[in-house]
Amino acid sequence: MIFNVSSASGWIEVVCGSMFSGKTQELIRRLKLANIAKQKVQVFNSHLDVRYAKEHLVSHDKSTLAAHPVKSAKEILKAVDKDTQVVGIDEAHFFGPEIVDVAQKLANSGRRVIVAGLDQDYRGEPFDNMAKLMAVGEFVTKNLAICMVCGNPAHFSQRLTDSGKRIVVGAGDKYEARCRKCFQPEK
Ligand SMILES: [Zn+2]
Repeated sequence: MIFNVSSASGWIEVVCGSMFSGKTQELIRRLKLANIAKQKVQVFNSHLDVRYAKEHLVSHDKSTLAAHPVKSAKEILKAVDKDTQVVGIDEAHFFGPEIVDVAQKLANSGRRVIVAGLDQDYRGEPFDNMAKLMAVGEFVTKNLAICMVCGNPAHFSQRLTDSGKRIVVGAGDKYEARCRKCFQPEK
């Protein structure tokens, strides 16, 4: 998706999907295009996301972009500069419900907000804040991965380790993408 860079109206773009569906890769792609368009871009991620490098967004295919790790969504509001036109937020499901309000405020102030995150947890339950962002956002892109069991389109994140915690940070060692047929939420 490429937008007219001179627009002063803000909006929210949501990039969602399962693990390994290329969400971060898509976020980085859009932000790099905004950089090329000489727009002022700021990028945030959660301090919980320490999979690769704290101060960078890194996709599974290893493309990178410098990012500012924050502990809460409210910190994003404080950290956004007055002249910033584009705000990228990765792993938005890591943030609490206030991420929705933060994204709305940023968009209402004329900024383009691009939010990426998981739409469902490892049990296949929607993350409420992502569902709300999808409802209030102007543009929603749902990426599918490929089922690592059968090769069908996949939109579930199968957890491979035992943990009752909703958020367990990890990549290929802890999760794999699964289709509806192969997903086993109780595992
Ligand atoms: Zn499958």
